[in-house]
Amino acid sequence: MLLAALCCLPLLEFGAEGLRGWSQVLVYPGAFRAQRHEHDEDTGVLHEYDEDLIGESWEFGPLVLSWDDVAAEAGSPHEGFNVVVHEMAHKLDALDQAMDGTPPLPAAWQRAWARDFQAAYEALCARVDAGEETVIDPYAAEAPEEFFAVTSEYHFSAPAVLAAAMPEVASHLRRFYGESPL
Ligand SMILES: [Zn+2]
Repeated sequence: MLLAALCCLPLLEFGAEGLRGWSQVLVYPGAFRAQRHEHDEDTGVLHEYDEDLIGESWEFGPLVLSWDDVAAEAGSPHEGFNVVVHEMAHKLDALDQAMDGTPPLPAAWQRAWARDFQAAYEALCARVDAGEETVIDPYAAEAPEEFFAVTSEYHFSAPAVLAAAMPEVASHLRRFYGESPL
């Protein structure tokens, strides 16, 4: 019940269209381990490693969550952390077949979104590269799609922090998700 409510939270404005293309939520009792394969183009070496995850979203498959973490965040919402919202943002991002930090939007809005998100993302990357402290979790600087997912977590769990740090991004997310429940 909590899980269904949390998954729907990011869809209040966007609608049920946000659930298109997938139907399963896999829930593990705690953090889970995923095996990764990475092929290094330059050296031809195949790297294999394990990664501990609390959530994962497959492009055309299930949403995978660690129940421990979902319950812990619901019980005492951290500033900026909400694994369900994070993975749902990836699902919304993938709806237009491109995981690039931009969900499907009307054309004019999509252009404004891309411009404002790009600028905020680059500013964050510059601070992280310079070794500076950032208000927003530096994981957002990993890639544009992580930037969208992480700022979505702030929208739902710490909207004032996001609005102060990245006002344009905060305003797009308010329009996209509706006002934050906080
Ligand atoms: Zn992510």
